[in-house]
Amino acid sequence: MKTASSISIKTPQEIAILHEGGQILAAITEELARSLKEGMTTREIDRQAEKLIRDQAVLPAFQGYRGFPGCVCTSVNEEVVHGIPGDRRLKDGDIVSLDVGIIYKNYYVDTAVTVGIGKIGSLLKKLLEVTERSLYLGIAQARPGNHLSDISHAVQVFVEANGFSVVRDFVGHGIGRNLHEDPEIPNFGPAHEGPILKEGMVLAIEPMVNMGGWQTKVLADGWTVVTQDGKASAHFEHTIALTAEGTKIFTQTHG
Ligand code: MG
Repeated sequence: MKTASSISIKTPQEIAILHEGGQILAAITEELARSLKEGMTTREIDRQAEKLIRDQAVLPAFQGYRGFPGCVCTSVNEEVVHGIPGDRRLKDGDIVSLDVGIIYKNYYVDTAVTVGIGKIGSLLKKLLEVTERSLYLGIAQARPGNHLSDISHAVQVFVEANGFSVVRDFVGHGIGRNLHEDPEIPNFGPAHEGPILKEGMVLAIEPMVNMGGWQTKVLADGWTVVTQDGKASAHFEHTIALTAEGTKIFTQTHG
């Protein structure tokens, strides 16, 4: 666990830029989610995302990041995160996670949402609701004076109380001048540990929740993370900041 001193504190000017960027990203992601339909390939989602991003005159943060070949990550059903857009076609009853990041005025913002295609089963619906709700419960713990792991613990407790599991191998992160900054933000662990949260911290909180076991593996493409048991997984993420006016959710529409 990192010490608080390694977590960068953003200035009010930086916070303002990140807020603007977050609002642009929220609009892009909402429109992208609305455009999804049965029969679409994940490559087509990627093309649509790139168009929406370029139309806003911002840059896709993931394209070429450590060699990632897509503009966004598209993770279907048993795919947890980092799905490479390709030939997989969305079917009625699928869920697809969209992870979208942009660079705005040299600052990074990051968000993710999981969307049902057509009519999804009741357990999948519950998975989406629990994952999104766990994100907001984590965000509710992100306030000055709390410990970093209060976020982690709130997510885990709620997810497990609902019979699902939280992914251990991938975590949230600080964000700002870089896509991934300190601290790492696990979605599990005991409360009241790690650095004390302070005003000016900007965090990407991102629970990844599995319907079955928490174990994951990476496919031979070197990117796509899937559940070991092949059961579905959902992912929601917001970039948030601890500000003088309270905690702001930058990547929420009208946040
Ligand atoms: Mg992220």
